[in-house]
Amino acid sequence: MISHQLPQPGDGPEADRPRAHPAHAKPHTPLRPMWCCRACGRPWPCPPARLLLKADYADNPVGLSIYLSGMYYEAVRDLYRLNPDGGPAPGELFARFVAWGPYRRPAVDPP
Ligand SMILES: [Zn+2]
Repeated sequence: MISHQLPQPGDGPEADRPRAHPAHAKPHTPLRPMWCCRACGRPWPCPPARLLLKADYADNPVGLSIYLSGMYYEAVRDLYRLNPDGGPAPGELFARFVAWGPYRRPAVDPP
């Protein structure tokens, strides 16, 4: 199998966003390698995480795109390692991790 012949990448960046809000609350960050939220248990990014990520990156949408893409890469690797035969489809993971981000323009320009 090819994966045994090629060097494997190391662990990626720490998933440290979104920051906890309020500061003493448990953060809605992913619990690896299952990629569920450590605060509410839903698939990450959960709705509170998405809201907090948009607030954290309000002035840096490119940074949010880069962060989400990195988390997507890490999640694909973790989830397929956990379940190589029945893991989620790549399109599902892309929609879950990346496609909801700051890429779409509003249908109507804000006043
Ligand atoms: Zn959560």
